[in-house]
Amino acid sequence: MSRRSTSPVSVCLILLVLTAAPPARLHAQDAKAVVAEAIRAMGMSSLSSISYQGTAAVGNFGQSRGITFGLASSAIRDYVRTIDFTKPAMHATGQQYPMVPRGAKASPNALPIPYDEAVSPATPTWASQLEIWTTPWGFLKGALAAADTKLTTQKLDGVPYRVISWSPMLKAPSGRPYRLNGFLNQQGVLDKVETWVDHPVFGDMHVEAFFTQYADAEGGVKVPVKISRRLGGMETFVESLMRAQINPADVADLLQAPPPPVPPAPRPLSSEKLADGVYRLTGDYVSLLVEFKDYVVVLEAGESEARGLAVLAEAKRLFPTKKVKYVVNTHPHFDHVAGLVAFIPEGITVITDDNNKFFVEAAFSEPRTLLDDGLARKKKTPKVEGVIDDFVLKDATRELRLHHVDDLEHSEGMLIAYLPAERILFTADFDPPLKGQAVDASIPILLKTLDRLKIDFDRHVTVHPLTPDHLMTRDELLALGRAAEKPAQE
Ligand SMILES: [Zn+2]
Ligand SMILES: [Zn+2]
Repeated sequence: MSRRSTSPVSVCLILLVLTAAPPARLHAQDAKAVVAEAIRAMGMSSLSSISYQGTAAVGNFGQSRGITFGLASSAIRDYVRTIDFTKPAMHATGQQYPMVPRGAKASPNALPIPYDEAVSPATPTWASQLEIWTTPWGFLKGALAAADTKLTTQKLDGVPYRVISWSPMLKAPSGRPYRLNGFLNQQGVLDKVETWVDHPVFGDMHVEAFFTQYADAEGGVKVPVKISRRLGGMETFVESLMRAQINPADVADLLQAPPPPVPPAPRPLSSEKLADGVYRLTGDYVSLLVEFKDYVVVLEAGESEARGLAVLAEAKRLFPTKKVKYVVNTHPHFDHVAGLVAFIPEGITVITDDNNKFFVEAAFSEPRTLLDDGLARKKKTPKVEGVIDDFVLKDATRELRLHHVDDLEHSEGMLIAYLPAERILFTADFDPPLKGQAVDASIPILLKTLDRLKIDFDRHVTVHPLTPDHLMTRDELLALGRAAEKPAQE
């Protein structure tokens, strides 16, 4: 983000605005006057739609090796983004190349897949709508139309900014308004826009868009050469703009997007007894319930609060006299931690890899004023135990071992679980390849880890089975290990 040093003259102007603060109603009019002035400075008085081309890069948010830094990223070529502010609607297309771990080089033979992202009145969540309103043009158009536009000042890294704030009509699941802040620099154009969005893991998640170095497009409309977005402080999307069309004649065609995929209906949870006091819960995500003398342990919370609540209800049905004391989280990818929201308000201790301990504690301690889930209604400090290498839960009736898996590209904080008496292995994300793809390098690492730990098993319970009821056998895992040594077959 570009910041210029502040001249003494402009500081005086800001001080003048501050000291001459008028009553609230006039203050609101001042805010609208500043917005109108910014719209003129941006040359966007007659802008109704924009289409820009360039390249982009998307970070693997919530699914990278390190969950909070050094995200793996993927390049998008032939990138086109079109926004019609009158609808409002947005459509972005391109050719997306496979994810590349941080510090690694992209393979020259990698083939792209189509990138397609669309926002329309049919996608009425703030997470999608904010894509339109956190652009410099969308922000100022929204500020001009909003009923509650305000003007304040704030310093960013010591540089004073005039800050315009407004709320969209759309309300958060908690009923609260969302809020946007736009930071006007000394040239009267926006350096940054921020907002907050409800997120199942990060609570009220901070969203920031930074605009670098404005250039003139047709008709003198100001367009930044780079837009970078951050979610929860992590850079997750960067656009490098090379060309822009203002009010393109073919805007309707550019906005034509394939219908959004209809997510399959969630499969109801069902349970299957694997041994006395050991149940596999199937459905969309697999969990394992393990009974001890005085309590129950859940392996894997599920991908959502709803699934976590269903897992807890099933534990109560199967073991009505015992409480769930621990929930084991295999690794911190969002689809594996989101279900913890059901467990934390109940005071259930989360056991996770020590590399994830701080993340789980911090994420689920964030404010959740925009959400309407169990943790937002019943605030509770998460209790989290970190497993450094190995951890054993043991009493007179049962033994459950947890082990860290080292050197994995998939996650730096991965646990596997093993029930030695029942000879059951439980893992997440060591899955067979999709058709035509090579076996993932994680499979040989898992087999090496099992050898080192002298883990022998008959049944391998996986969190994402091939089909909902599939239970991987030892032979299937060994066959995957052998296939990993051969090149991929078509
Ligand atoms: Zn994962
Ligand atoms: Zn997974």
